[in-house]
Amino acid sequence: MRASPLSYWLASAPPFTGGAEGGVEGKVDVAIIGGGFTGLSAALALAKRGARVVLLEAGRVVGEASGRNGGQCNNGTAHDYGTLSAKFGKDVAKAWYRAHCDAVDTVERLAREEGIACDFNRCGRVKLAAKPQHYDKLVRAHDLLAAEVDENVRLVPPEQVRDEVGSDAFHGALIQTTSAQLHPARFGVGLAEAAARASARIYEQAEVTGLDRLPQGWRVTSSRGTVSADQVLVATGGAPAAAPFGFFRRRIISVGSFVIATEPLDNATIDRLLPGRRNYVTSKNIGNYFRLTPDNRLIFGGRARFAISDPRSDLKSGRILEETMGELFPALKGVGVDHVWGGMVDLTADRVPRAGEQDGLYYAMGYSGHGVQMATHMGQQMARVMSGEPDANPWAKLDWPSVPGHFGKPWFLPLVGLWYKWQDVIR
Ligand SMILES: Cc1cc2nc3c(=O)[nH]c(=O)nc-3n(C[C@H](O)[C@H](O)[C@H](O)COP(=O)(O)OP(=O)(O)OC[C@H]3O[C@@H](n4cnc5c(N)ncnc54)[C@H](O)[C@@H]3O)c2cc1C
Repeated sequence: MRASPLSYWLASAPPFTGGAEGGVEGKVDVAIIGGGFTGLSAALALAKRGARVVLLEAGRVVGEASGRNGGQCNNGTAHDYGTLSAKFGKDVAKAWYRAHCDAVDTVERLAREEGIACDFNRCGRVKLAAKPQHYDKLVRAHDLLAAEVDENVRLVPPEQVRDEVGSDAFHGALIQTTSAQLHPARFGVGLAEAAARASARIYEQAEVTGLDRLPQGWRVTSSRGTVSADQVLVATGGAPAAAPFGFFRRRIISVGSFVIATEPLDNATIDRLLPGRRNYVTSKNIGNYFRLTPDNRLIFGGRARFAISDPRSDLKSGRILEETMGELFPALKGVGVDHVWGGMVDLTADRVPRAGEQDGLYYAMGYSGHGVQMATHMGQQMARVMSGEPDANPWAKLDWPSVPGHFGKPWFLPLVGLWYKWQDVIR
């Protein structure tokens, strides 16, 4: 396979032009560590509130998960609503589901307010039943959602599923009609430019290597210099960059997810295969997600293997994804693949995000594959929390035990992968 290892999104986004020059120094109100959606959204909101903000990013802004994802900005929680309701109670599940809907609204609002050209589009999200018995589950999910929390859901029975997707592999579907898609890297670079316009100082290639408590606030040491700050927000996602953040590394499980982007497809093929041009996910545990780009490429992703993302691993996973794409859509066998990439998804053990304050450090992460909307939203919400509105944090009441035996490197991933594969066989 001859394809660029750069994410299609990063390859087709404008460069960020508002980066701060020179060394990191001085004293600020807030230092933010990490320049993905969480950090950039928080920087924008805090700077607009008048705070002096420095953001320190180890690589380039949106260079990790925020610029490498599937570009889906969906309603709904990572775990299905019924499971959450059974485990945490109906009111909590409702509040969390609504928080994800609010998060999609937040992305739309920011794109509009800041004039970010990122092709935001409420296309709807189609969950495709990969087995006949999965459709029964979708029917139950639909009924519960419609009765309790989301009237914008619709079922597609097995005999009509080909109206949505030109493939023999599926047995019905559930559509969340208000879900959206966008160009994530254009959105992220737009957020960064907006934050810089609002006077946030954004430093790229500034890896944070030290955090020391001062009598008041923190000293933050980075590869570009040192700054002292009254408050610090840790917004490091699932990125494997070395960081003095042991607490988070024992709780965040970073898992590789992988994506390919085909060459542009012709309109006739698209009308046959994906006429609604929506977001699509399959119902298996180790399933796939896909959508089209505005220039008619198919973005096709999935976990492919339970592994970390690095250039070799991405390529290996890309081959598996190309094969799966051909199985689901035989018409795409042999279509050119222009980009193959991967990234690290920030999972929590229960796939519920975490945010709050730990030993004086603020944090938000663990969006478990739903961070395009929730990371952006949590950046805004954490700006409010850090300005004295603790109720703005939808995840405030959750405890966050460490993952037993996890010290940063998720050695247990292959075992988890086998378990999920087995579940896909038997259920
Ligand atoms: C392949 C893939 C597909 C996905 N698809 C979707 C999808 O379709 N829809 C969806 O909702 N979500 C999806 N996600 C998840 C989503 O992209 C993330 O949850 C979200 O982008 C997290 O944003 P963030 O800002 O918290 O973290 P990130 O975007 O990971 O940003 C964290 C930043 O912190 C920086 N950093 C780390 N350590 C340090 C340090 N010591 N010093 C300075 N900087 C540091 C990193 O370099 C990084 O840029 C996907 C993720 C991946 C990887």
